[in-house]
Amino acid sequence: MARPTAPRRPGAFALVLKLSALSALAALACSSRHGSEGGAAAEGAPGALPAVERGAGPADARALGPAAGERAATGQVTPASLPAGSADTVEIRVSAVGDCALGDIRQGSGAPGTFSAKIRELGEDLAYPFSAVAPIFAADDLTIANLEGTLTRATRHQNPVFAVRGKPEYAGMLRLGGVELVNLANNHSGDYGPSGYAETERALDTAGVGHFGNGRVDRRRVKGVDVVNLGYLGGPKGTREAVVRDIEREKHRGGIVIVSFHWGIETYEQAAPDQIRLGHAAIDAGADLVLGHHPHVLQGIETYRGRHIAYSLGNFVFGANGKPGDLDSIVYQERFVVRDGQVASVESSHLPVRISGDPRVNDFRPVLLEGAEAERVRQKVDQRSAALRAKR
Ligand SMILES: [Zn+2]
Repeated sequence: MARPTAPRRPGAFALVLKLSALSALAALACSSRHGSEGGAAAEGAPGALPAVERGAGPADARALGPAAGERAATGQVTPASLPAGSADTVEIRVSAVGDCALGDIRQGSGAPGTFSAKIRELGEDLAYPFSAVAPIFAADDLTIANLEGTLTRATRHQNPVFAVRGKPEYAGMLRLGGVELVNLANNHSGDYGPSGYAETERALDTAGVGHFGNGRVDRRRVKGVDVVNLGYLGGPKGTREAVVRDIEREKHRGGIVIVSFHWGIETYEQAAPDQIRLGHAAIDAGADLVLGHHPHVLQGIETYRGRHIAYSLGNFVFGANGKPGDLDSIVYQERFVVRDGQVASVESSHLPVRISGDPRVNDFRPVLLEGAEAERVRQKVDQRSAALRAKR
């Protein structure tokens, strides 16, 4: 999300969103919510509204309880109507999206139909790629993406086939789109070697976009709550031990710990056993949310011990492929209710997306789906989530 320049009130969401489509999304978003006890799952709890329509703006100094958040969705809440004793309860809303390749693959880079050509055609309009979803990311408290590539002028590539590179200035796309934080633990952030990686980090720093992964931890305060992001490649030996050690170290202070994994098998619609083992290990160690990517397609969302694992978020702004076979994706959203610094309950929802406004060719601008198309993507996620449950 983009930090607003002026404090917002809970009721300001309608002004911020300005999208009539979002009210329709209230009926479309799939949602499940859980208390901290981790007991019975309430998959697909009906009637839940997408988190984007709830709660207080990020600069609002007051903490809203979940009940106040519910009423905020109807636009009826006012500061005076907040329940007494809500000061210790904070609602944090996080959005997450999958693979974002803000550049071209090396072969044919800059040719017609590529990401950089599209941006050039638009007069280097850095707001373009995230422009359809930016209002959603502006309305949450934190937006996380996987940056699947480099932002560098380095030319010495290390990935012989698919080296992904965009201009350092493209980091501004994330900032303008309301994405505050990206994971760099993936198989493309090193495509242009250590210098390309370092330049990518500098480009993100310059744009004011946080980054984590490969040993770097992002720690921040969001509405007074400690939020930690960790990122890992799923495959290497010793990952599980590192994950458990890091989560236990970060979690002992309370707050929210979110773990991103770049894992699994490309194009596989079901999570592989090693993804499930690693995801469970992260939750067992204290993670409050697990976000997965790399397969380039959507996989299921699992509830495990009262926490959520989104095994693969698919692609999002995906410059590395001008004509992907699968354009379906989601904006994943988690609502954390934090009481006295501890996560008291969580609720999962997602907004169906097509990663291109044009269904025939990738225009690199993800759009929210509506109607039958949204329902189809929602059912796809539901079916893949149900298959996960059937395995257990
Ligand atoms: Zn990958």
